[in-house]
Amino acid sequence: MQVQRPKLTFLERTYIPQILKGMWLTIKHVPQKKFTRQYPEEKPVLFGDYRGAPTLVKDPENRVKCVSCQLCEFVCPPKAIRITPGFRAEGAPDENVEKEPQEFEIDMLRCIYCGFCEEVCPEEAIYLQRDFAIAGYSRDELKFKKQKLLELGGVRPDSIWKWKYKGAPPPGTPIGPVRDGKGAPVAEA
Ligand code: SF4
Ligand code: SF4
Repeated sequence: MQVQRPKLTFLERTYIPQILKGMWLTIKHVPQKKFTRQYPEEKPVLFGDYRGAPTLVKDPENRVKCVSCQLCEFVCPPKAIRITPGFRAEGAPDENVEKEPQEFEIDMLRCIYCGFCEEVCPEEAIYLQRDFAIAGYSRDELKFKKQKLLELGGVRPDSIWKWKYKGAPPPGTPIGPVRDGKGAPVAEA
Protein backbone atom coordinates (compact mmCIF):
# COMPACT_ATOMS: atom_id res chain seq x y z
CA MET A 1 0.00 0.00 0.00
CA GLN A 2 1.31 3.39 -0.95
CA VAL A 3 0.54 6.40 1.25
CA GLN A 4 0.21 9.67 -0.65
CA ARG A 5 2.08 12.52 1.04
CA PRO A 6 -0.06 15.68 1.33
CA LYS A 7 1.16 18.57 -0.77
CA LEU A 8 2.52 21.35 1.48
CA THR A 9 2.23 25.03 0.63
CA PHE A 10 5.34 27.23 0.57
CA LEU A 11 4.55 28.64 4.05
CA GLU A 12 3.98 25.19 5.49
CA ARG A 13 7.33 24.07 4.15
CA THR A 14 9.03 26.88 6.16
CA TYR A 15 7.38 25.50 9.38
CA ILE A 16 6.76 29.11 10.53
CA PRO A 17 2.94 28.74 10.99
CA GLN A 18 3.43 25.56 13.04
CA ILE A 19 6.07 27.21 15.26
CA LEU A 20 3.84 30.27 15.82
CA LYS A 21 0.87 28.04 16.60
CA GLY A 22 2.91 26.13 19.20
CA MET A 23 4.21 29.35 20.78
CA TRP A 24 0.68 30.78 20.95
CA LEU A 25 -0.52 27.66 22.74
CA THR A 26 2.28 28.02 25.33
CA ILE A 27 1.73 31.78 25.82
CA LYS A 28 -2.02 31.19 26.29
CA HIS A 29 -1.27 29.07 29.38
CA VAL A 30 1.15 31.56 31.04
CA PRO A 31 -1.50 33.77 32.77
CA GLN A 32 -3.67 30.80 33.72
CA LYS A 33 -3.86 29.43 37.29
CA LYS A 34 -1.02 26.98 37.95
CA PHE A 35 -1.84 23.49 39.23
CA THR A 36 1.69 22.18 39.71
CA ARG A 37 2.03 20.30 43.00
CA GLN A 38 5.31 20.75 44.88
CA TYR A 39 5.68 17.04 45.63
CA PRO A 40 6.98 15.61 47.99
CA GLU A 41 6.52 18.64 50.28
CA GLU A 42 2.88 18.92 49.13
CA LYS A 43 1.22 15.54 49.40
CA PRO A 44 -1.75 14.72 47.14
CA VAL A 45 -5.12 14.17 48.77
CA LEU A 46 -6.02 10.47 48.63
CA PHE A 47 -9.74 9.93 48.30
CA GLY A 48 -11.93 7.18 49.68
CA ASP A 49 -10.52 3.72 50.23
CA TYR A 50 -7.27 4.37 48.37
CA ARG A 51 -5.16 1.22 48.29
CA GLY A 52 -1.39 1.52 48.57
CA ALA A 53 1.38 -0.83 49.61
CA PRO A 54 0.40 -4.17 51.22
CA THR A 55 1.81 -4.79 54.71
CA LEU A 56 1.53 -7.38 57.48
CA VAL A 57 -0.30 -6.39 60.66
CA LYS A 58 -0.27 -7.55 64.27
CA ASP A 59 -3.27 -7.94 66.58
CA PRO A 60 -3.77 -5.63 69.61
CA GLU A 61 -1.77 -8.10 71.72
CA ASN A 62 1.21 -7.72 69.41
CA ARG A 63 0.86 -11.17 67.81
CA VAL A 64 1.67 -11.79 64.14
CA LYS A 65 -1.77 -12.51 62.67
CA CYS A 66 -0.56 -14.35 59.58
CA VAL A 67 -0.80 -18.15 59.87
CA SER A 68 1.09 -18.76 56.60
CA CYS A 69 -1.88 -20.39 54.85
CA GLN A 70 -0.43 -19.07 51.55
CA LEU A 71 -3.82 -18.08 50.11
CA CYS A 72 -2.52 -14.60 49.33
CA GLU A 73 0.53 -16.08 47.59
CA PHE A 74 -1.76 -18.25 45.48
CA VAL A 75 -4.16 -15.48 44.52
CA CYS A 76 -1.63 -12.68 43.83
CA PRO A 77 -1.90 -11.98 40.06
CA PRO A 78 1.74 -10.87 39.43
CA LYS A 79 3.17 -13.46 41.88
CA ALA A 80 4.65 -10.73 44.08
CA ILE A 81 4.32 -12.73 47.33
CA ARG A 82 6.71 -15.47 48.47
CA ILE A 83 6.03 -17.24 51.76
CA THR A 84 8.13 -19.79 53.62
CA PRO A 85 5.74 -21.38 56.16
CA GLY A 86 7.01 -21.97 59.67
CA PHE A 87 5.75 -22.97 63.13
CA ARG A 88 5.29 -21.00 66.36
CA ALA A 89 8.00 -21.83 68.88
CA GLU A 90 7.07 -24.69 71.24
CA GLY A 91 6.22 -23.40 74.69
CA ALA A 92 5.41 -19.90 73.36
CA PRO A 93 2.31 -18.38 75.06
CA ASP A 94 0.39 -18.56 71.76
CA GLU A 95 1.73 -21.90 70.49
CA ASN A 96 -1.89 -23.05 69.86
CA VAL A 97 -1.81 -20.81 66.76
CA GLU A 98 0.74 -23.33 65.44
CA LYS A 99 1.84 -21.63 62.24
CA GLU A 100 3.33 -18.31 61.29
CA PRO A 101 5.51 -17.44 58.30
CA GLN A 102 9.21 -18.13 58.70
CA GLU A 103 9.74 -15.69 55.87
CA PHE A 104 7.27 -13.49 54.03
CA GLU A 105 8.38 -11.40 51.09
CA ILE A 106 6.49 -8.97 48.90
CA ASP A 107 8.18 -7.65 45.78
CA MET A 108 6.93 -4.07 45.64
CA LEU A 109 8.11 -3.75 42.03
CA ARG A 110 5.70 -6.50 41.02
CA CYS A 111 2.79 -5.54 43.26
CA ILE A 112 -0.03 -3.79 41.43
CA TYR A 113 -1.92 -2.78 44.62
CA CYS A 114 -4.93 -4.81 43.52
CA GLY A 115 -5.90 -5.75 47.09
CA PHE A 116 -6.65 -9.42 46.30
CA CYS A 117 -4.33 -10.51 49.14
CA GLU A 118 -6.26 -8.41 51.66
CA GLU A 119 -9.60 -9.70 50.35
CA VAL A 120 -8.62 -13.35 50.49
CA CYS A 121 -6.82 -13.39 53.86
CA PRO A 122 -8.89 -15.35 56.41
CA GLU A 123 -6.99 -13.76 59.33
CA GLU A 124 -7.16 -10.08 58.29
CA ALA A 125 -3.37 -10.25 58.52
CA ILE A 126 -2.42 -8.42 55.34
CA TYR A 127 -3.58 -4.88 54.90
CA LEU A 128 -3.10 -2.35 52.13
CA GLN A 129 -1.88 0.94 53.62
CA ARG A 130 -2.36 4.30 51.95
CA ASP A 131 1.39 4.64 51.30
CA PHE A 132 2.20 4.72 47.58
CA ALA A 133 5.68 6.34 47.62
CA ILE A 134 7.80 3.19 47.64
CA ALA A 135 11.29 3.91 46.36
CA GLY A 136 14.73 2.35 46.62
CA TYR A 137 18.17 2.23 45.04
CA SER A 138 18.04 -1.41 43.94
CA ARG A 139 15.55 -4.12 43.02
CA ASP A 140 16.55 -6.17 46.07
CA GLU A 141 15.82 -3.25 48.39
CA LEU A 142 12.23 -3.27 47.15
CA LYS A 143 11.67 -6.89 48.09
CA PHE A 144 10.19 -6.21 51.53
CA LYS A 145 10.83 -8.95 54.09
CA LYS A 146 8.61 -10.02 57.00
CA GLN A 147 10.17 -7.68 59.58
CA LYS A 148 9.86 -4.63 57.34
CA LEU A 149 6.27 -5.55 56.38
CA LEU A 150 5.35 -5.85 60.06
CA GLU A 151 6.96 -2.50 60.88
CA LEU A 152 4.99 -0.83 58.07
CA GLY A 153 1.75 -2.59 59.02
CA GLY A 154 1.72 -1.92 62.76
CA VAL A 155 -1.29 -2.97 64.83
CA ARG A 156 -4.87 -3.11 63.54
CA PRO A 157 -8.07 -3.40 65.59
CA ASP A 158 -9.34 -6.96 65.91
CA SER A 159 -13.04 -7.62 66.33
CA ILE A 160 -12.62 -11.41 66.29
CA TRP A 161 -9.87 -12.12 68.87
CA LYS A 162 -9.66 -15.54 67.26
CA TRP A 163 -6.73 -16.84 69.29
CA LYS A 164 -7.93 -15.43 72.62
CA TYR A 165 -11.56 -16.51 72.84
CA LYS A 166 -13.43 -19.53 71.56
CA GLY A 167 -16.34 -18.26 69.47
CA ALA A 168 -17.42 -14.63 69.85
CA PRO A 169 -15.58 -12.36 72.33
CA PRO A 170 -17.53 -11.35 75.47
CA PRO A 171 -19.76 -8.28 74.99
CA GLY A 172 -17.93 -5.01 75.49
CA THR A 173 -14.51 -6.41 74.40
CA PRO A 174 -12.60 -3.47 72.88
CA ILE A 175 -11.58 -3.94 69.28
CA GLY A 176 -8.25 -2.26 70.06
CA PRO A 177 -6.48 0.81 68.72
CA VAL A 178 -4.62 1.25 65.42
CA ARG A 179 -0.87 1.53 66.01
CA ASP A 180 2.13 1.97 63.75
CA GLY A 181 5.11 -0.42 63.58
CA LYS A 182 6.72 1.30 66.61
CA GLY A 183 3.56 1.05 68.72
CA ALA A 184 2.47 4.70 68.45
CA PRO A 185 -1.28 5.32 68.03
CA VAL A 186 -2.43 6.17 64.50
CA ALA A 187 -5.58 8.09 63.60
CA GLU A 188 -7.69 6.06 61.14
CA ALA A 189 -8.02 7.73 57.72
S1 SF4 B 1 -1.97 -6.09 46.32
FE1 SF4 B 1 -2.34 -7.57 44.63
S2 SF4 B 1 -0.40 -7.58 43.52
FE2 SF4 B 1 0.04 -6.65 45.52
S3 SF4 B 1 0.72 -8.34 46.79
FE3 SF4 B 1 -1.50 -8.15 47.10
S4 SF4 B 1 -2.42 -9.56 45.61
FE4 SF4 B 1 -0.29 -9.25 45.01
S1 SF4 C 1 -1.36 -13.03 55.01
FE1 SF4 C 1 -3.33 -14.06 55.29
S2 SF4 C 1 -3.69 -15.12 53.35
FE2 SF4 C 1 -1.51 -14.59 53.43
S3 SF4 C 1 -0.52 -16.40 54.29
FE3 SF4 C 1 -0.95 -15.00 55.97
S4 SF4 C 1 -2.92 -15.68 56.79
FE4 SF4 C 1 -2.72 -16.59 54.75
